[in-house]
Amino acid sequence: MMPAATVLADLHRAFRDELLRHGLLISLGVDGLYGRGGAFENVIERINAAISTIGDPDRPEVMRFPPGIGRWQLEKSGYTRKFPQLAGTVYSFFGSDREHRALIETLDKGGDITVGQQMTQVALTPAACYGVYPTVAARGRLSEDGALVDVYAYCFRNEPSIDPARMQMFRMREHVRVGTHEQTVAFRELWMRRGRALVESFNLTLEVVVANDPFFGRVGRLLAANQREENLKFELLIPITSKEEPTACVSFNDHRDLFGRAWSIETAAGEPAHSACVGFGVERIALALFKHHGFAPEDWPRDVRDVLGL
Ligand code: ATP
Ligand code: ZN
Repeated sequence: MMPAATVLADLHRAFRDELLRHGLLISLGVDGLYGRGGAFENVIERINAAISTIGDPDRPEVMRFPPGIGRWQLEKSGYTRKFPQLAGTVYSFFGSDREHRALIETLDKGGDITVGQQMTQVALTPAACYGVYPTVAARGRLSEDGALVDVYAYCFRNEPSIDPARMQMFRMREHVRVGTHEQTVAFRELWMRRGRALVESFNLTLEVVVANDPFFGRVGRLLAANQREENLKFELLIPITSKEEPTACVSFNDHRDLFGRAWSIETAAGEPAHSACVGFGVERIALALFKHHGFAPEDWPRDVRDVLGL
């Protein structure tokens, strides 16, 4: 049976309080927005190193992006159509001296900063792989080998929550494959095996299930049903605050030719390219480790510490 929403909320709050008390997360006064303490960050680094150990032998191209991408890239990728509720755009003050005076007056009266604000060219990165497609597209037609990229970025999603595993700013470590349908299918199968084995080596229980993206609204329900029917998204779930409602910690996505068409990426044969990505939610994996093995990494089981090099 599913735990009642209030029970779940209490569990989330209690876990978050413990994480804050141990200095693993640092409150910034906004749900879902945290600083990270040294011990937490060290575990994040060790998880990333473990992913590198698995992925590096394939010699992926490494790309690192800031937590922002061009707003035009967010728009062109289709994100703002499908997930307007999650997208974030950066605003700044574009006013004159007169508007500046009005702003100061508003602030003095306890108002907010909306006076003179306009949207900038910067959007917040919604998923680490969004910077990869325009970069690959700009190089022209793919070679027979396609592209394989190791990417890591802070991502933003407008989903404030007291669940410490649902952050507004978090990091995704991804491997991305762009090429033919056969290449992307083989890549996703390989990483589904690798992802499972990695999480098992952390002594965590997991299941892999068919999933869907959080598409907005009525149209979104159709997109989600279609995505599930065609097995385009799998998630690796680990129980964090609840066994009945485990948390998606890794996702394995087949985009078909969605980004290939959006960005006009062509395979060597001149077809619209397919793409697939595996995304590790490194904060969620770290939280699962702290939840199951305790708040002090030095007390974690020896085998888990060995895998992580702790
Ligand atoms: P969810 O279904 O929980 O909203 P998602 O399916 O939208 O997640 P993806 O877009 O597949 O997530 O993102 C890849 C990975 O990033 C997820 O498997 C998860 O581990 C992590 N992730 C996604 N959203 C968050 C978040 N709000 N806070 C922390 N990690 C997240
Ligand atoms: Zn991705």
